[in-house]
Amino acid sequence: MDSIWINAPAKINLGLDVIRRREDGYHEVKMIMQSIRLFDRLTLAKSKTPGIRLSTNLNFLPVNEDNLVYKSAKLLMDEFGITDGLDIQLDKRIPVAAGMAGGSTDAASCMIAMNRLFNLQLSTKQLMERGVTLGADIPYCITKGTALSEGIGEILSPLPKAPDCYVLIAKPAFHVSTKFVYAELALNESTVHPDIDSMIRCIRKKDLHGLCSVMANILETVTIPKHPEIAQLKESMLEYGALGSLMSGSGPTVFGIFDDVKKARAAKEKCRQLPFRCFVYITDLYR
Ligand code: ATP
Repeated sequence: MDSIWINAPAKINLGLDVIRRREDGYHEVKMIMQSIRLFDRLTLAKSKTPGIRLSTNLNFLPVNEDNLVYKSAKLLMDEFGITDGLDIQLDKRIPVAAGMAGGSTDAASCMIAMNRLFNLQLSTKQLMERGVTLGADIPYCITKGTALSEGIGEILSPLPKAPDCYVLIAKPAFHVSTKFVYAELALNESTVHPDIDSMIRCIRKKDLHGLCSVMANILETVTIPKHPEIAQLKESMLEYGALGSLMSGSGPTVFGIFDDVKKARAAKEKCRQLPFRCFVYITDLYR
C-alpha cells in the first residue's frame, strides 16, 4: 500500500460542564462528546523524498509543526524511525476554531492512517496514549461515537449511541479563543452546573426529547454575553422546531437537534437570513 485516505469526523458537545480549575491551570471537565457526519479528508502517500509535506485547501492554516496533522505524523515517524517521505493532503470542511475539535480529529485520523500505511501494528489504546501527548481531545477523536469525557478530557467512557436525529450546524464567521473563554469562566458556590448525569440517563433510554430538554453548556455563560449572535442562532433554531439548541465547546458553533428534516431545512434558511455571515450545514450523528 502506497497511499491511503481517511475521513476525520467533527464532534459536538451534547453537554459540557467544567467541574473545577486545577492548581496546574488545567480545567477538570465533564462533557458528552458526539461525532457527526461532517468530515475533513486526509490523503497520505509514501514518497521517496524524505520528510513530511503537508498541503491544505485553507491557505491560512499552518503546514508546518504548528499543524496538528504535521505534529502527529512526525511523532510516529520519529518513534518508528520511518525513513520514507510522506505527502499529506488535508481537505478541510470542518470550520476552524469552532468548538468542533477540527485539529484534534485531523491528528487522530492521521495517526490511524499512518498506523495502517506503515503497518505499525499499534492498538487503539497505544494510539490513544500517543495522541494524548498532543491534545486532550485526541484520544476521543480516535475512538469517536458517543462518549463521556472527564479529567482534562482524556478519561473516556463510551456511551450507547445517542438517539437518531438531524443536526443543524451554524458557525458564525468570527473566531472565539478557547483560552479566553476558560479563563473568564466564573466557578463558585453559586455557579449552576449542567446536569450531565441526566443527559446520560436520557441517552441510555434513547429519549431524544428528554436529552434536548436538559442539554447545557456552562461555557455559554462566557461566550454568549460577548457574542449575542450565538443567542440569536439558538433562538432561530428553537423557533423553527429544534428540540434543543446549544453552543458546542467554547463556541462559536451552535447546533440544533431536530426529529424532522423539513424543520431543520427551514431553520437553516432562517439562520442564513440573519444579519451576519454563517456557515450552515445539516447532518446527522456518526456511529
Ligand atoms: P476544539 O473544539 O478542540 O477547541 P477548535 O474547533 O476550537 O477545537 P481547531 O479547528 O482545532 O479549533 O483549531 C484551533 C487552532 O489550531 C487554529 O487556529 C489553527 O491555526 C490550529 N490548527 C492546527 N492544526 C489544525 C488543523 N489540522 N485544523 C484546524 N486547525 C488547526
